[in-house]
Amino acid sequence: MKLHEYQGKELLRRFGVNVQDGKVAYTPDEVRQIAQEYGQAVVVKAQVHVGGRGKAGGVKFSPTPDKAYENGQKILGMDIKGLTVKKVLVTKAVDIDKGKEYYVGMIVDRNVQSYTLMACAEGGMEIEELAVEKPEAIIKHRVDPVAGLRPYEAREIALKAGFEGNLNKLADMMVKMSKAAFELDANLVEINPLFVGEDGIPLALDTKFDVDDNAMYRHKDLADWRELEAEHPLEIEASNYGFAYVKLEGNVGVLGNGAGIVMTSLDVVNRAGAKPANFLDIGGGARADIVYNAVKLVSKDTDVKAIFINIFGGITRADEVAKGVIQALKDGILTKPVRMRIAGTAEEEAKSLLAEVNSDLIQMYPDMFQAAEAAAQEANK
Ligand code: GDP
Ligand code: MN
Repeated sequence: MKLHEYQGKELLRRFGVNVQDGKVAYTPDEVRQIAQEYGQAVVVKAQVHVGGRGKAGGVKFSPTPDKAYENGQKILGMDIKGLTVKKVLVTKAVDIDKGKEYYVGMIVDRNVQSYTLMACAEGGMEIEELAVEKPEAIIKHRVDPVAGLRPYEAREIALKAGFEGNLNKLADMMVKMSKAAFELDANLVEINPLFVGEDGIPLALDTKFDVDDNAMYRHKDLADWRELEAEHPLEIEASNYGFAYVKLEGNVGVLGNGAGIVMTSLDVVNRAGAKPANFLDIGGGARADIVYNAVKLVSKDTDVKAIFINIFGGITRADEVAKGVIQALKDGILTKPVRMRIAGTAEEEAKSLLAEVNSDLIQMYPDMFQAAEAAAQEANK
């Protein structure tokens, strides 16, 4: 779950990170009020779940409350990379020319089976751009998953990266950021820019914070921050059914029983010359009603031109799968061709159920390659 800047900053504050003061506003009037209250220059910042807001015009320096009001008007309602700005963060501005902008971040790194801490003296830019333009300037360090980031390691990294300022405080900020990542099960925490002013004291001006969805049960207090409108509507529906569902960009709806078989199905669809429209795992032992819901969900996707169902019946009974699909057809929910392979338990029963229905829309194949090819052909028509 991606968090907004103001939410990420709130979490970092809880871990003792020195964060720039700021308040959220929903209207230009609120923006003005906050600017007046602060009695100094502010920055008005779009709160949307994308990076690079600055370049897109979503971050504006505002020397006076009137200017802040004006910028609030400009930014609220603005479209940034397809997302509408509904709220802004109004922060006390720093004098960016009188200091330095650095980058620090923690990411889950599968290659090292732990977090990797990254530090770079060229802050402000997105890390993805930095990695292309100045890869040698990024210092990487594997963080021990048991001990965490030790202060001496953090000091060493700050030195290697070429950070200037109060070294102990810089290291301390990194240690606190890494604690936040560990304790909140973050996939990613970035502080960018990490600002160091003339006094040498580090201050977090922006953060990206992404909490692992699979760990949300441990962070119930963060669940309120989930913004459904920012998610794909079909993904919300799928999570209500308890399905593992991921929307993809192709035109063949894919469903199967188990993550492994669905992954394989995606590959097979690709091999057949089409692109999968989704990943959908109905789980093991699914009954007709679950299959019905899965078919309903995939059918709602307007990108889907054909559906490929790949079931290997062990505890999942093929006849239950057939019943679910047939019911969806009878109810008029299923309007796209279904090409399926259902093998294993109760396969014969499934075949005879489908033979009874005798609809062009539903066809069964002896193996998954043929079924996938038939689905790909239908989708590419
Ligand atoms: P992002 O573009 O989405 O990463 O948004 P940031 O919060 O990182 O802001 C983008 C840029 O705006 C930063 O790199 C800074 O150059 C600038 N900026 C952010 N906060 C301040 C501030 O308090 N004062 C000034 N003068 N510039 C700021
Ligand atoms: Mn930033």
